[in-house]
Amino acid sequence: MTNATKTPELDAVVLGAGFSGLYMLYRMRELLGMSVQVYEAGDGVGGTWYWNRYPGARCDSESYMYCFSFDKQLMQEWEWTGKYPEQPEILKYLNHVADRFDLRRNIQFNTRVTAAHYDEANNLWHVETDKGDKVTARYFITGIGCLSSGQIPDIKGRDTFEGDAYHTGSWPHEGVDFTGKRVGIIGTGSSGVQAIPVIAKQAGHLYVFQRTPQYTIPARHGTVDKAFLDDVKSRYDEIWEKARWSAGGLPVEPSEQSALAVNDEERRAVYEKAWEEGGFKFLYGTFGDIAVDRRANDTASEFIRSKIREIVKDPETAEKLVPTDHPFSSKRPLIDTDYFDTYNRENVTLVDIRHSPIEEITPKGIKTEDEEYELDIIVFATGFDAMTGTYNRIDIRGRGGERLKDKWADGPKAYLGLASAGFPNMFMITGPGSPSVLSNMPVSIEQHVEWTSDLLEYSRERDIATIEADAEAEAEWVAHVNDIAQATLFPLADSWYLGANIPGKPRVFMPYAGGVNLYREKCIEVASEGYTGFVLERGKATAEAAGVR
Ligand code: NAP
Repeated sequence: MTNATKTPELDAVVLGAGFSGLYMLYRMRELLGMSVQVYEAGDGVGGTWYWNRYPGARCDSESYMYCFSFDKQLMQEWEWTGKYPEQPEILKYLNHVADRFDLRRNIQFNTRVTAAHYDEANNLWHVETDKGDKVTARYFITGIGCLSSGQIPDIKGRDTFEGDAYHTGSWPHEGVDFTGKRVGIIGTGSSGVQAIPVIAKQAGHLYVFQRTPQYTIPARHGTVDKAFLDDVKSRYDEIWEKARWSAGGLPVEPSEQSALAVNDEERRAVYEKAWEEGGFKFLYGTFGDIAVDRRANDTASEFIRSKIREIVKDPETAEKLVPTDHPFSSKRPLIDTDYFDTYNRENVTLVDIRHSPIEEITPKGIKTEDEEYELDIIVFATGFDAMTGTYNRIDIRGRGGERLKDKWADGPKAYLGLASAGFPNMFMITGPGSPSVLSNMPVSIEQHVEWTSDLLEYSRERDIATIEADAEAEAEWVAHVNDIAQATLFPLADSWYLGANIPGKPRVFMPYAGGVNLYREKCIEVASEGYTGFVLERGKATAEAAGVR
């Protein structure tokens, strides 16, 4: 890219108009008075909630915590209707936020950033889009989400299918009518487990192609209780503070008891209660060692297995649904509505593709080793090239023209998941190496946006022109992220956390598993010590006058 100019046209280019991009824009424009251009690929705000419109899509965090906390009035005025927020409601909320804070005027929709190159001579970023825009900015900030590049497996004959095919992560806005249709769905992760019960109610027949059985806990979804919400609103500050200093970004009371410290009867009673109450409490609120101690975990895993056998009437189908090859919560924990019950329906067939793998997709449907299933519609609930996929699709180049993609070829390298050495003045909101996907996202997003904008303010006050992660600090952080993951049960599953779902992707645990609380503490410490682990360089003119570099 050419056209180097000495002064950037903008203070910042921000990618994405989801939770991250919207708040970054608000913060930089309203609090720092900076000029910001947001580019968004969709034709509206919402990020992940703009794209993931599949039937049953909703968030697993309770609605009162799946929102922004930066504006007290906004928190008081918004009325959630569902216990868990459904996709249309979250999208409505984010549209409301965009309107309320007049954010759209700095967002260019239907525009994808294709390249961002750092210009060392002028200390600015050249950014290009697929619409032909070419702009320069001091800061390049990504709010591109962790799960934004959909993955459709390269199954033989994939493009020969004559029916309709959809990926859950880029669902048609007008919806899909499954009435009376023969539908095949591949994938039983969060998206599949939510979509399957809803599609089953409409479809003529639904075939679920399952590779790995899943542990899933009932959500016990319903409308949100008004009295509960009123109480939350009267204590919102206290509740959010608790979430900010919790491990998962939720105001839950984590259990400190070991699952091995109680007898079988007591343990079963604890699990039963959590199962009845539903949601993530089963993971956080039952016993404190489920996610780290294999023997403790076995008790939870076995309890869920017993529930599957209890719910699913056909013993053969039940056995196919029972997970045995990984411990509970080593893959992303799931919560569902009527998932296992759905297999009691006459119009639902479970196809175990672990034992009879898909050989090919044919013009008529899906052919496994044993049988060909004729279908009108195929739904790919097959996940995402998580955490790094979207970065790799943008031509990002730092010092000396180094490509981020090349630097990350063996796994992502970022200090605090916020910045990468060799890429000055580039910041990642919930980048790899931060708690992100292991937490309630809005809590982590707000922390990243606020921390980054504080750093920008600090730099402006001191005439610091270049902010760059130090390579040594980055290497130490990446090693630390890995060490923490090794102390958990996460490495025992083939999950997207590890890149295991993408053929050829390096097997590296990408998010920070130490908890939102410890991570926040570290970020505060870094800032209070003058941003240790970052190299801060002053602007040329000031530096020359002061005789420093
Ligand atoms: P996912 O968790 O990666 O699940 C993908 C599913 O597709 C898995 O069952 C996987 O099987 C299967 N699959 C992938 N490639 C396959 C192949 N070649 N052949 C057969 N099966 C294949 O993706 P997701 O369900 O879209 O969820 C991704 C993440 O998004 C979630 O973990 C969560 O963080 C987020 N999400 C959240 C919500 C929510 O808040 N409720 C909803 C949706 C998504 P294997 O397990 O064998 O790999």
